Amino acid sequence: MPDTRTVTRFAPSPTGRLHVGNLRTALLNWMIARKAGGTFILRLDDTDPERSKTEYADAIRRDLEWLGLDWDREETQSARLDRYAAAADEMRAAGRLYEAFETPTELDLKRKKQLNMGKPPVYDRAALALSDEDRDRLRAERGGHWRFKLDQSRIEWTDGILGDLSIDAASVSDPVLIRGDGQVLYTIASVVDDTDMGVTHVVRGSDHVTNTATQIQIMAALGHDHPAFAHHSLLTGPQGEALSKRLGTLALGDLREDGIEPMALLSLMARLGSNQPVTLRDTPAELAEHFDLSQFGVAPTKFDVADLRPLTAARLAALPRSAVDAEFEAAGVPEDARDAVWAVIHENVDRRSDIAGWWQLLTEGATPDIPEEDRGFVTEALALLPDAPWTATTWSDWTAAVKDKTGRKGKTLFKPLRHAVTGRANGPDMGDLMPLMRAKPRL
Ligand code: GLU
Repeated sequence: MPDTRTVTRFAPSPTGRLHVGNLRTALLNWMIARKAGGTFILRLDDTDPERSKTEYADAIRRDLEWLGLDWDREETQSARLDRYAAAADEMRAAGRLYEAFETPTELDLKRKKQLNMGKPPVYDRAALALSDEDRDRLRAERGGHWRFKLDQSRIEWTDGILGDLSIDAASVSDPVLIRGDGQVLYTIASVVDDTDMGVTHVVRGSDHVTNTATQIQIMAALGHDHPAFAHHSLLTGPQGEALSKRLGTLALGDLREDGIEPMALLSLMARLGSNQPVTLRDTPAELAEHFDLSQFGVAPTKFDVADLRPLTAARLAALPRSAVDAEFEAAGVPEDARDAVWAVIHENVDRRSDIAGWWQLLTEGATPDIPEEDRGFVTEALALLPDAPWTATTWSDWTAAVKDKTGRKGKTLFKPLRHAVTGRANGPDMGDLMPLMRAKPRL
């Protein structure tokens, strides 16, 4: 049943460009909200003033707009610092937030010692044993940061993808919520936002599972229930190799520049990691309609950027001419020629910008690079080709004449002739293409 109270959010940090990994998170949350007729929030997690940049926030909006993933509301964490401060005060008053003073080096040393002794590297809560005098002295010396005091019980939830989870809070360090310099960290900001904004479903990468456990306790400490959580598996490369380091090269902006079609990308990402086949759809709304989170699995999800090429070609092949009119306009194709040209080339377009290349071929003819061994044959054949305009039978008449004259047939006849006339090894049916061409090749 649709539930219009459903609220999801996509919460990128504007500290870099969005990549395919982020897109997966954005799309799953978007589909949940749209399928339910609920609300989708774009939340900019920008509490890090050094690394957050407006140009990244602009690029995030532009990427989502390009994909057609619309949002109902935009929220910015840097505008909500007073809310986080109030939540921190509440937790301090309840004895759930304590000040600690270890430097990163000291913490690192503690972790190493614990690991050497075969113990899990969990923060030892030494700060809780400090006297008031120690605390005042350390605060003056080096400043403190604030940790949430976990209740060391098991934290359990039914994950929308991973199923029943149970995490022992004793195996997790008390999370730092506020840094020494006062900077509010993701964990508290996210919890306060998710509760204030009535978020009902959170889907994010499985690298967040431990965060979720601590956030469930923080929400409870603030007197709130937690949303439904689901953690999707992380993307790997085609061979199962970790993709995290290469994600920077899989930025959405680069895919756009590369001519990837948004619906090809979305259709792939909507099904990758689920047990349903990838189905090319026409609109994001259609993806949402057919979306079912319970079909997603736990196993790492293989992603091969090369898959986007054939999907893009298939997407373009299925588009009506009106959907590529801007490209026809840019290529200077007269309006009355567009339908006929698209009808012939639409299955041979890898990216929208190819339309200009086809138009140039049609109007100016090819400049093929003929291999040495075919030169004689091609010159002889072209002498038999009448000048344009050509008709629907030009190709069959011509190739028949060339066959008679040279005795070539099959592939050895058609391949070099296609190449000579179009400069390409593949393309539309030559009988269809030639009537649109206005010029013989220039050798
Ligand atoms: N800003 C966080 C991230 O990009 C958000 C994680 C979440 O969805 O809570 O990892």
